Amino acid sequence: MRELKVELVAVGDELLVGDVVNTNAVTLGRRLTAAGLRVTGVSTVGDGLDEMIDVLTQAVRRADAVLVSGGLGPTSDDRTREAIAAVAGVALRRDPAIEDWLRRRYQGLNRTLTALGLQQADVPEGGRSLPNPNGSAPGVAIEIGDVQVYAVPGPPHEMIAMTEDRVLPDLLRRAGNPPIRAQRQLLTASVGEGVIAATLEPLEKELAVVGAVEVAYLATAGQTRVKLTSTAPGGADAVDAATARARELLGGCVYGEAGDTPAGVVLDLLRERGATVAVAESLTGGLVAAELTSVPGASASVRGSITAYATDVKAAVLGVDADLLAAVGAVHPDVAGAMAEGVRRLMSGTYGVATTGVAGPDPQDGKPVGTVHIAVAGPEGTTVLSLLFSGSRSRIREMTTVRVLDLLRCVVAGLPAEQDPSCTG
Ligand code: ATP
Ligand code: MG
Repeated sequence: MRELKVELVAVGDELLVGDVVNTNAVTLGRRLTAAGLRVTGVSTVGDGLDEMIDVLTQAVRRADAVLVSGGLGPTSDDRTREAIAAVAGVALRRDPAIEDWLRRRYQGLNRTLTALGLQQADVPEGGRSLPNPNGSAPGVAIEIGDVQVYAVPGPPHEMIAMTEDRVLPDLLRRAGNPPIRAQRQLLTASVGEGVIAATLEPLEKELAVVGAVEVAYLATAGQTRVKLTSTAPGGADAVDAATARARELLGGCVYGEAGDTPAGVVLDLLRERGATVAVAESLTGGLVAAELTSVPGASASVRGSITAYATDVKAAVLGVDADLLAAVGAVHPDVAGAMAEGVRRLMSGTYGVATTGVAGPDPQDGKPVGTVHIAVAGPEGTTVLSLLFSGSRSRIREMTTVRVLDLLRCVVAGLPAEQDPSCTG
């Protein structure tokens, strides 16, 4: 087996001007890496023929395989076939079988096949056409020198189907079937990346001796993902062992593994216990309720929610003491606690959760942007956490949402509420 270096090239003006996000690079990066291939570069280029030829020429110089997406369709700006033929130094040849197939397909769909549309039947000499199970534009595969070049359509569902059916099997055969990567991910949402890494130091030391498993950290708003990866033979067992050890070290701050969400996990816990939750939100404006209700089956455990944005609504609807609000303002730990207790009472929930704080961009009542208080009221009493986040308004709201869902998880599970107030993640 040898390591195959693959470069991705995404074609399209819409990607350059920001109309469309290059999700194909993300999808392909994940998929090829999981299959044991190494993605060594990603380029984006517009529809211009010269620019495309330039980028393809460079990619072919560096990589063992190049995977192009986009520009295979029936319009005048679809010039990927032409560019590939130019880089290969060959002519385009119209394939009568594909032409036939296109005519029948367009007729069946009651669409007009234009002269330009017929260019989809063009194949660079010496290359092959790849069937498209989800659309009209066939793909291309051709060897340029000893570099394998593939072109697949831009629309994501066509791109991935052709990659799975045709490109990956071919690439893997050429790579001598590299070992499958074994990976598990532990998800945390209550402590910062630095604390997680420090907690896992003993594991990293043990792994440095044994080898086999790599530990990596990925922080996104409010969350830290611990990735444990191995490509060694029997790597899955080593990854399982390292995961067990990491869970032992991290304890209750792990809320789940790849595929889990804070809302999904806490709803499972509530359902198991026959418990319910009611939500009162100020700075998150409904995000907590939206997260909870995005999970199928949420109705078993979610009582409802109130966005109590204005201070007098916190008093009138949630029953927060007006004197308290007058004395301390809306952004205060006691207000968060009273909101949680108020909504719990109002909606007869087992638990009430609440958020209040300053999302920014301007300070409020003398409190700096990022000041956040979250609370969970339950049968055992009320837990309040005071946090200080940094970043934009949307990031502060997002981090608050994640943290309050994780606080609810800790309270429901009877775990200590983590007190990492900065948790920048
Ligand atoms: P078509 O037959 O649809 O014209 P095509 O191969 O010519 O296929 P493009 O015209 O380049 O593909 O792209 C069609 C659409 O696919 C784009 O408007 C965009 O919505 C989506 N798309 C293209 N490239 C990407 C990409 N890299 N990431 C995500 N979406 C993409
Ligand atoms: Mg197109």
